[in-house]
Amino acid sequence: MRAQGPPCAVCGNRVSKAVTRCPWCHRVLCLRCECPNQCWKTQILTDELNQPLRWFYLSFAVDDRFYGAAIVEAPGEAHAIQRTHQLGINPGGEVAIFAVPDGAPLPEAAKNRLLSKSDIETIWPARSILK
Ligand SMILES: [Zn+2]
Ligand SMILES: [Zn+2]
Repeated sequence: MRAQGPPCAVCGNRVSKAVTRCPWCHRVLCLRCECPNQCWKTQILTDELNQPLRWFYLSFAVDDRFYGAAIVEAPGEAHAIQRTHQLGINPGGEVAIFAVPDGAPLPEAAKNRLLSKSDIETIWPARSILK
């Protein structure tokens, strides 16, 4: 008979003998479930607070369909995503994030809004500085 561990805090399934716990709040979790507290997100957000603010370029897409891009200032990637939600400029989809290189041109009009492909080509013409 298989040894049974305590139930998962999320789905209630018994976890195997090797108990997995959330490393932050120590809830018992099965391999399928994430901590309902979203501790990892909280942890990332807390860690980022020690970093200086900088500009991030976020590109939103689903498969190959471009939904838009945004340039926001934040102490880190998780905050940058949060910022687009706060500003109401997160169109959804999958996000790719790049730190805007120091010294790259960054017009005021490009900041904190949802940008189209042609907006971006206007800001960073020809060869994009972002790979
Ligand atoms: Zn579970
Ligand atoms: Zn947790």
